[in-house]
This record gives sequence, C-alpha cells and structure tokens, in this order.
Amino acid sequence: MRQLTFIKPGKFEWQDVAAPKLTADTDAIVKPIAVARCDLDLYIAAGVVPYPGPFAFGHEAVAEVVDAGPKANVKPGERVVVPFQLSCGRCDPCKRGYTNTCDAFAPRAAYGLKPTSGVEYGGALAERMLVPFADHMLVRLPAVLDPIAVASAADNVPDGWRAVAPHLKARPGASVLVVGGLAQSVGLYAAGAARACGAGRVLYLDDDPARRAAATRLGAVAEPLQLAERRGTPKASTGGSPLALGGGPEQFDVTVDAAGNVDALDFVISSTAPNGVCTSVAIYFGPTQIPLTKMYGKGITFITGRVHARANLPEVLNACAHGHFHPEHVTARVVPFTQAIEAMTDAAPKLVFTNDL
Ligand SMILES: [Zn+2]
Ligand SMILES: [Zn+2]
Repeated sequence: MRQLTFIKPGKFEWQDVAAPKLTADTDAIVKPIAVARCDLDLYIAAGVVPYPGPFAFGHEAVAEVVDAGPKANVKPGERVVVPFQLSCGRCDPCKRGYTNTCDAFAPRAAYGLKPTSGVEYGGALAERMLVPFADHMLVRLPAVLDPIAVASAADNVPDGWRAVAPHLKARPGASVLVVGGLAQSVGLYAAGAARACGAGRVLYLDDDPARRAAATRLGAVAEPLQLAERRGTPKASTGGSPLALGGGPEQFDVTVDAAGNVDALDFVISSTAPNGVCTSVAIYFGPTQIPLTKMYGKGITFITGRVHARANLPEVLNACAHGHFHPEHVTARVVPFTQAIEAMTDAAPKLVFTNDL
C-alpha cells in the first residue's frame, strides 16, 4: 500500500509498504477518509521541530472500517474517528481517562509520530491503518457529521476542548481568554469549545488576521494581541507586589496559552483571575519561566501536558453533532492526498487531506 513518509524537513515520499493485517481479535483495519494536518505536523515538515526521519506521517484521521476481528466491536463500512494516541482501554490509566499514558504501549505512542515514542505505528496519510484494541480505540462518527468537518477530532480538536470544557462545567458561564499562536488550530478550537460549553465572555488574542477571522466565525471576540498595552500597570497602592491582586491586565476565570512564547505565557498567567485555571496547550522546547509567586498569591491552577484524546472524544463529537461546535470554521483548505506533499508547509491554521489514493 502507499504511505506518506517524512524523510527530512521539506522532503516527503509516497512509499510502497506492506499493508497491515489483523493479528488479534480486537484489531481493526481502517481506510482513512479525511486526515487533518496537526499543528505539530507543520513544524516537523518545515524543520522547526527537529524530528529525524524516515517515519510514516499524519495522525488525525476519520476513517472507514474495512476489516475487523471478532471482538473489535466495529463492522466494515462504519465511519470512525481514530484517536492519534494508541491506548488499550483496559489498564489503570485508561480506566481513569488518562488514555495518553496507556500502560500497554510505549510512552507517547502515536500514529505518524515515531520520534515521540521510538515505535513506528504507521501513519494516517496511507491507504490503511491498523488499530489495535479497536473495541476501545475507535469512536463511531455520528451520521450527521461530515468527515472533512471533524477530521481533526483525533487530536487538535479535543486538545482545545480539554483546555476549557471541564472548567466551564465546574463553573458555568465563566469568562475565557485564549492567546493564539504556535498551536494555531488548538487555540482556535479552545475558543470554539468555550462558546460550545456556554462560556461568558470569550476573548481570543492573536496577531495573525487569518486566525482572528476563524475565531470570530467560532463566536469569540477576536483582537490583536498588543501585549504591552494589555499588561496594564499594577495599582500604585500595592507597590507592584507580585502577591497583589489589583491592577494589571483584564482577568479571566479560564485561560489558555496556545501562543508558545514565554512573554505570552507570562501574560496569560497574569490574566488568570484568582482561583482560575490556566492551561498551556503549546509545547515548549526551550526554557520557560513560570511566575509561581504570582500564581501562589492568586491560587491559580496551571495545567500542561498532552491531551487524552480518546477520553475527550465522545463529548467533542456530541457537541459537534448537536451543532454547538463547528471545528470546520478553522479549516482553510481541503486538499487530496496526492497533493499533500506540496501543501504540507502551507501556513494556514488547518489543512484537511481527502483520500484519493
Ligand atoms: Zn498532533
Ligand atoms: Zn491502557
């Protein structure tokens, strides 16, 4: 079968590799229908994130089941979302919803990202994918949903969702700030998820006009970042103490850093209201500074780490199926698989590849 293989920055090849076969009762073989480019894929393709090739590429797939073991609990012809992280559904972390740290696979096991785990699980930009523990892994696509619209549901959409949904459930109507940037689509999905989950004010800040336009389509108020103006000045009466609550930037109950730079991260934390929750969905490969004193003074909870994609998927798809959440507003281009190599370094926030192999 044909499989898109990352060789080195700027170089991909369609290679002929052996098609996967069923080996266990719970295995399934699926044919990817619509595959989204993950935010990380762009940086790997462009050499910004130095992952060594060769490895199978692509990890956000909506697919059709073509073959299934007797205990896979799916049937040929069914449409499914394939979470990018491999998980078993049976171990203690999986049972607790931590499907990103499943005991049955290598740490950080994922499709299309061999360097993160050291193990090649195959990629989504291919004719077929092997899904182990398909009875747990695969989530049926609701019939009302277009595979292209929710192609990113395997990874970036739930990544944005988890940054706001649980906190809005705990505090309905809370205000949300998202600072966009490096994690381009994840920040936008967080803004859309905030609207879907009944947030109050949702402010999306980003210097990129295309991403601001997408945030507006998702129902957020989108404005340029303008960090210097927004930081404000601490109230004179507090002497600018980092423990002081007064002064400084506008405060939000739930904040999301998708910017991926230390200045914006500091701003996002500073914009988190007392007892608020700040999630960073960006990946920092270099040094960072976390203002712990400021956070201590305000009792801020800070969350970082990979999404638990499988665990979040049912809620995400339910919100999409009911028309509350429209991830398709982020998609800039739909491109056939056979043109994926040329399109891969397009700077747009989200590309979706459709299988024409
Ligand atoms: Zn990804
Ligand atoms: Zn597990």
